[in-house]
Amino acid sequence: MTSRSLSVALLIAVPLTLHAQRVSAQRVSAQRAPAAPADLIVTNARVYTADETHPLAEAFAVRGGRIVFVGSQREAAALKGAATRTVDAAGRTVIPGMVDAHAHFSGLAQTLSAVDLTGTHSYDEVVARVAERAKTTPKGTWIQGRGWDQNAWGDTRFPTHEKLSAATPDHPVILQRVDGHAVLANSTAMRLASVSAATKDPDGGKLQRDAQGAPTGVLIDNAQALIANKVPDATSAEWRSALKGAIAVMHRWGLTGMHDAGASRRMIDLYEQMAQANEMSLRLYVMISDDSAAIQHYMQIGPRAALYDGHVWVRAIKLYADGAMGSRGAALLEPYSDDPNNSGLLLTAPAHIRDVAERALRAGFQVNTHAIGDRGNRVVLDAYEAALKAVPTADHRFRVEHAQILNYDDVPRFAQLGVIPSMQASHQTSDMYWIGKRLGPTRLTGAYAWRSLLNSGVVIPNGSDFPVEQVNPLISFHAAIARQDANDWPAGGWLPEQRMTREEALRSITIWPAYAAFQERDMGSLSLGKYADFVVLDQDIMRVPPELVLKTNVIATYVAGNAVYERK
Ligand SMILES: [Zn+2]
Repeated sequence: MTSRSLSVALLIAVPLTLHAQRVSAQRVSAQRAPAAPADLIVTNARVYTADETHPLAEAFAVRGGRIVFVGSQREAAALKGAATRTVDAAGRTVIPGMVDAHAHFSGLAQTLSAVDLTGTHSYDEVVARVAERAKTTPKGTWIQGRGWDQNAWGDTRFPTHEKLSAATPDHPVILQRVDGHAVLANSTAMRLASVSAATKDPDGGKLQRDAQGAPTGVLIDNAQALIANKVPDATSAEWRSALKGAIAVMHRWGLTGMHDAGASRRMIDLYEQMAQANEMSLRLYVMISDDSAAIQHYMQIGPRAALYDGHVWVRAIKLYADGAMGSRGAALLEPYSDDPNNSGLLLTAPAHIRDVAERALRAGFQVNTHAIGDRGNRVVLDAYEAALKAVPTADHRFRVEHAQILNYDDVPRFAQLGVIPSMQASHQTSDMYWIGKRLGPTRLTGAYAWRSLLNSGVVIPNGSDFPVEQVNPLISFHAAIARQDANDWPAGGWLPEQRMTREEALRSITIWPAYAAFQERDMGSLSLGKYADFVVLDQDIMRVPPELVLKTNVIATYVAGNAVYERK
């Protein structure tokens, strides 16, 4: 295939969203007032539909779990029958159900039972929280924690295990860093895992060591497994109950769907069992973890969409190109400005990304690859480009997860290749305090470059990467429009020229995630024929000053016209 016909094929991919919107617009005008009464009418609302053909409405009606009318109160009232339920929104704001396009479902479930280390201001505080948990944990049982971040402490060097080991002599302890790219283990855990001075660094991983070469307890990227693999796994019943807890937390924050960025076959089996048992009120878009047996298994079955009445999708594969900025594992083209001998880590051979991408194109699967550093991103774009040359595919919707630091030359390549940058606005506001030290000023022009990417002609599905960040999707909405933290710092926003408009930010948590998951015909906006997934808010996030957005409460969350969360 010539490069010319390739670019023609790729051009076809981009206008598809427009096509889908036109189709739904036709359905709008064709189906004004269906005769049969609705199951549910939502009225007296300020409805932001996220549908460009009718962005605002007062009311909508639902039948069989789908939207059958969107428009005025008067016309909605005509659909009221004897059994119709009515929700009077009392003038409040209604938006489509929010979807987190990159997060970790089982990670959230685990976090809910692990020691929460987020928000700790010192290593001593971390040790104290773990010691508190140890008091109520049987001796010998593993204690897991998550969320420490040495960049938020007075001393920003990596911690060493001694203080932790002294406070927890009777328990193996493993504490994951906030980004999931490093762990801190105590001496008992290292002993059980036979991690010692003799242990070599695995490929794509690193043990922090003292002057004598003994491990200090911090294990980075692929080295984490040396300890993590020794932690006994929860039973299926324990997992299911933890996952149910995680679903409840998501609904409480207005999420009706999520894209699970890497799930094992065991987890996907559990998700399907839960959906069969009506325990899956989420719309769950699964990315299969990079495991050759699992990938082969699911490719043999083929891509599956809207399983179990629209609750589980299995048609994407998650790969990792590099690590993360916080632990200096993101792969850079030039060394870290604050660590001149280190350019980060490639976690996966580029040939592997290309190989999986080619197989995925043949099998009809999407590939979503984690890339944070500018080198990581270039490697992925190169691998995708090569795979697309070998297997030209018009509508592949391959994604780069994070796309955080881009070399400026690579920005237009996303649109050219039809690749979707799946970005988490809250990473920008979490990283802005120290990212300049890591990168120096020049490379910041391609950092969290939402405006540059949007202008190049791509959409940006937004997310949180929870449990790396908090679940509340409005944190990323706020970051997208303000590029400020919850305390409105810095004044005027960090590199504010890269902000999104509110309309874009709303799309980034509704219709763009749907597009990035091949779901835009069924989800992502309050349009005729789509699932009746929506959220009632106590403030108008499209009109309140940006500094009030994070004070917004979710009043109720609905999936398929049924309340899955209601505020007391
Ligand atoms: Zn992630």
